[in-house]
Amino acid sequence: MENKEKNSKDKAPHSLLRQGAIALLIFLVLTSVYSFIAEQNGERKEIALSALAADITSGKVVEIIARQDEIEARYKDAAEDAPRVVAKKEFGESVAETLKSLGVSPEKMSALTITISKPSGVGYWVGNIAPFLLPILFLGFLIWFLSRQVRGAGMQAFSFGQSKARIIFPHDKKQKVSFKDVAGAKEAKEELKEIVDFLKNPKKFLDIGAQIPKGVLLMGASGTGKTLLARAVAGEANVPFFSISGSEFVEMFVGVGASRVRDLFNMAKKAAPSIIFIDEIDAVGRVRGTGVGGGNDEREQTLNQILVELDGFEPTDRLVVMAATNRPDVLDPALVRPGRFDRRVVVDLPDREDREEILKIHARGKPLFEDVNLRVIAERTPGFSGADLYSLMNEGAILAARENRTKVTQYDLIRSIEKVMMGPERRSHLLSVKEKEITAYHEAGHALAASVLTHADPVHKISIISRGRAAGYTLKLPIEDRKLQSRREFLDDIAVSLGGFVAEKMLFDDLTTGSSNDLAVATALARDMVTRYGMSEKIGPIALEESAGLSPFGGSFTERDYSEKVGAVVDSEIARIMSEAEERATDILKKNRKALDGIAKRLIEVETLERAEFEKLLIANGIVPKKKQEI
Ligand code: ADP
Ligand code: MG
Ligand code: ZN
Repeated sequence: MENKEKNSKDKAPHSLLRQGAIALLIFLVLTSVYSFIAEQNGERKEIALSALAADITSGKVVEIIARQDEIEARYKDAAEDAPRVVAKKEFGESVAETLKSLGVSPEKMSALTITISKPSGVGYWVGNIAPFLLPILFLGFLIWFLSRQVRGAGMQAFSFGQSKARIIFPHDKKQKVSFKDVAGAKEAKEELKEIVDFLKNPKKFLDIGAQIPKGVLLMGASGTGKTLLARAVAGEANVPFFSISGSEFVEMFVGVGASRVRDLFNMAKKAAPSIIFIDEIDAVGRVRGTGVGGGNDEREQTLNQILVELDGFEPTDRLVVMAATNRPDVLDPALVRPGRFDRRVVVDLPDREDREEILKIHARGKPLFEDVNLRVIAERTPGFSGADLYSLMNEGAILAARENRTKVTQYDLIRSIEKVMMGPERRSHLLSVKEKEITAYHEAGHALAASVLTHADPVHKISIISRGRAAGYTLKLPIEDRKLQSRREFLDDIAVSLGGFVAEKMLFDDLTTGSSNDLAVATALARDMVTRYGMSEKIGPIALEESAGLSPFGGSFTERDYSEKVGAVVDSEIARIMSEAEERATDILKKNRKALDGIAKRLIEVETLERAEFEKLLIANGIVPKKKQEI
């Protein structure tokens, strides 16, 4: 979106300039042609044929030049700048005949130099026709040029009939995206290659009777590059890309949504092979008839029309419908039935390597200082989406520009991580002295627990400068994104989460609301351990709840199909895990009270502690920091 706007802004002055230049060129050509013609004709004096004959007879003329329809005469005593003298004659008739019939004697005639001038092919015709033809040509060119401009403008915000879809044509180089612009997402790309193949070479698939999916549903968190991938498929296959967002359907008058869907499909079929992309399909594709939100007729009609259209075209139409959503769980089951969006492609958050690749893509065109190490940035950004990484790079460049540097440094990027993660620093919101002390002990509690517990992630940074909604934060980062987590890691994570809570309780004999998020995260972890991972002895290896992730369809509402009795055991197990974690955290903080005070005091002074300084404090208090794990 942003890019598109920029393009049109660039384009306006550019085309104006070009138009001006072309007009000037045409003007120059016209004037030079006219002056050429005028010069050729020169100043001329026309006399009657009989007068010419008389002049020849009296010997004043030395030379005549015969043309098809005139005779030009050179006089003996003519001055340099005298006008050319011409007499009209009948077209095509010979000079000798003409003059003879006017009574010029053969002797007089032979004294003359007679030149017969054949009209010089091109020059003659150009000279004669140009004055008529050029204005016509000019007009024609102008009409062609203007119509081209209008068409060009239309392509940016194509709005045909009612469909309101945007369209990207394959020849539109500026908007074209290909797979190499999408980093990571290897599995998704692999699956989508098949679609590209089909659009490029449908015959191969149709001949063998292969069933090509009509509908492809891209699922993944927001900012993971779903829209980008859909555009890349169109770019790779070199086909037109019609895109519309589900939310655009919803804001329309009754009955308009359905007709837009119809228009969109008709357009795309005419342009086949082509791709239709419905972004944020959950906006129209929610389960029908739930009554939640008052039942939206318009939305249902639109959805029904989408279903009708999906059923109504054949693979031979060479049309592929793609859709994207970050809420596959709320989609109407009818949408994902076989023959509709039956191909599902999951787009994951990028892992460390992918993040590095994405950073590289967005570093294009940004001069980087030699200390920049994108791998380190990738390590520090677990959980970032492609879109987050894009804005990280952008923030870094903005920081450099603001400080009048021409290159982006590593420090710019590191500062940008926090900015993207937490929102901008709110230095204006100052904590009161008491608040600051509580926050410092709270964060020190987290950090200390994380440093002592073997399976917790090492601390990268502690800060009590409030950002976004959090009063302070402790940044703990895993060295690598983990696919598997162990029971011990979970238990340590829970204890670390409670570190802040415990510190407040210990030091101030009171509690604040600052721990609410910590408690929510820790409790959810404990619940998952019990109900999903079989990590509780009392419940045993039974999955009581399905994963709340993206995989299951038709029901996100975590179904609890276990009895009240089992439910009570689950609750008591969660409570046990939590209280054991609290005990461990309390134990750690009590044993290392000196370190806790030291860290908190230092935090109150400097507000932010980086890893190096934090570890010095640990060592000073007899705690061995986790060894720096380098990759
Ligand atoms: P989604 O549609 O999943 O919410 P988008 O496709 O709109 O995400 O992604 C937003 C932006 O983030 C893209 O325009 C691109 O700049 C960046 N981005 C996201 N994923 C990637 C990726 N895998 N590789 C490169 N850039 C990405
Ligand atoms: Mg999107
Ligand atoms: Zn906390």
